[in-house]
Amino acid sequence: MGKKLDEKTTKEMLRLLAAAYPDAKPALKYQNPFELLVAVLLSAQCTDERVNIVTDELFRKAPDAAAMAALGEEEIRETIKSCGLYKNKAKNIAALSRILTEEYGGEVPSAREDLEQLPGIGRKSANVVMSVAFGIPALAVDTHVFRVSRRMGFSDGGDVRKVEEDLMAAVPREDWAAAHHWLIFHGRRCCKAQRPLCGECPVGSLCPRLYLKK
Ligand code: SF4
Repeated sequence: MGKKLDEKTTKEMLRLLAAAYPDAKPALKYQNPFELLVAVLLSAQCTDERVNIVTDELFRKAPDAAAMAALGEEEIRETIKSCGLYKNKAKNIAALSRILTEEYGGEVPSAREDLEQLPGIGRKSANVVMSVAFGIPALAVDTHVFRVSRRMGFSDGGDVRKVEEDLMAAVPREDWAAAHHWLIFHGRRCCKAQRPLCGECPVGSLCPRLYLKK
């Protein structure tokens, strides 16, 4: 197990990340909470670029929950078939659209317990929707956030829940939403899964480089 960073180093690392990624924001395109919810669901094992191509057509056909429920699973499946896991995703999008229409008046709920009841929506997706669509402080841990947080020493947790808890303790609450995007951008552009670019890393002088294969 690695050692977690002290408070001063954590603060400085966050400052450096914020300075390095001032453009960090959601890459998924959406116009409202419903579109964000569907885009987040589609983004599992699929690039954001691909999701944006698929949703461009999908949201033209069905811009809200009622229209999506009416579109139906088969048509949704046809429209999103270039996405990974498209059959299961189509089933979940059709089902959650029905539930939103019948039980929530077509609106996306903002409470975690309601979001996590929706088909295909787990804790990470609920965190993204709460934070991005509703401004409720939450810190979603995806594959980049998990890897980078452990390498940089923000967390020594072995599962996403522990990493989420450690990040929430380390990062000021007002920065949770931004930190999620800083860490994703950092993971994509610099601290890559296979070959992290430590030599040109904005936090290279402070990073303990934990869990890297020597
Ligand atoms: S120094 Fe290397 S391991 Fe540490 S954050 Fe930068 S790229 Fe990742």
